[in-house]
Amino acid sequence: MAIISWVDEQKIRVEELKGFAGGDVRVAVSMLRLDKIHPIISGNKWFKLKHHVASAIAAQKSTLLSFGGAYSNHLIATAAAAHSIGLSSVAIVRGLQASSSLNSVLKQCQAYGMQLHFVSREAYAQKEASDFLQGLQKQYPDAYIIPEGGANNDGQRGAASIAQYIPSYYTHIALSIGTGTTFIGLRNVLPICQFLFGFAPMKGGIYLQNSIASALLPEQNHQWSVTDRFHFGGFGKKTMEMDAFISDFALQYNILLDRVYTAKMMMGIETLIHEDTFEKGSKILCIHTGGLTGN
Ligand SMILES: *Cc1c(COP(=O)(O)O)cnc(C)c1O
Repeated sequence: MAIISWVDEQKIRVEELKGFAGGDVRVAVSMLRLDKIHPIISGNKWFKLKHHVASAIAAQKSTLLSFGGAYSNHLIATAAAAHSIGLSSVAIVRGLQASSSLNSVLKQCQAYGMQLHFVSREAYAQKEASDFLQGLQKQYPDAYIIPEGGANNDGQRGAASIAQYIPSYYTHIALSIGTGTTFIGLRNVLPICQFLFGFAPMKGGIYLQNSIASALLPEQNHQWSVTDRFHFGGFGKKTMEMDAFISDFALQYNILLDRVYTAKMMMGIETLIHEDTFEKGSKILCIHTGGLTGN
């Protein structure tokens, strides 16, 4: 899409991870570098936003409004996208907090001109209720409202276009999951012979299995699984083991992994390879979804 030409999809590429998992020769591991498209906008966030942005422009709205927690990559991506095309942006942020003590993610959102609107956790829980949304639309009449994480049909459709960068040669595709929107979009269009492996970075993330299963096209509801084994203490948590893994990976491949999503996925893949989960000859493509602002 030409609207945001500076999000450079041309930079996306596949890189081999030679020697990964102790150089196990039974499998080949590569990485799809969606993180290359932009320094701030997470790779998958851009794909999920692109149809929303186009719809906002078509509806002649001047503002993008969306929802997220205080560490949301989606909010940063929304703020940066709006800023780049001359739209305003508003964030409905989960949890009341003093605007004097913003974290770096929210500061960055503000730097892109995003207006931060803090709501209590109870109010935030209403984010999909029509009363609440109507109230917001009244308050921000010029806003195009995008659900949290871009998580709807438009978001899935945008994420599905990541598939054009996935060579058919790969037998397994690994992806980290937050809302599951990217996962659903991809599973719905990937050839059924490619297995999609989802890594949930939060405790109890296995609940995502149900929402994913119900959103998939029946004929595409095969050849996928979700694990929450590799949450390392929960969403946003980090361990010394993880920090060591991130620095080793950066040294070996010159690729920086984000702490919240992709580092956990790669640690999981390594463990699964050691556990002999993949049949001999498997070709695994791990999607680097970006998210480095969280580091
Ligand atoms: C948001 C995000 C995800 C999860 O995407 P969903 O579509 O919400 O499942 C994965 N990786 C990174 C880096 C992200 O920022």
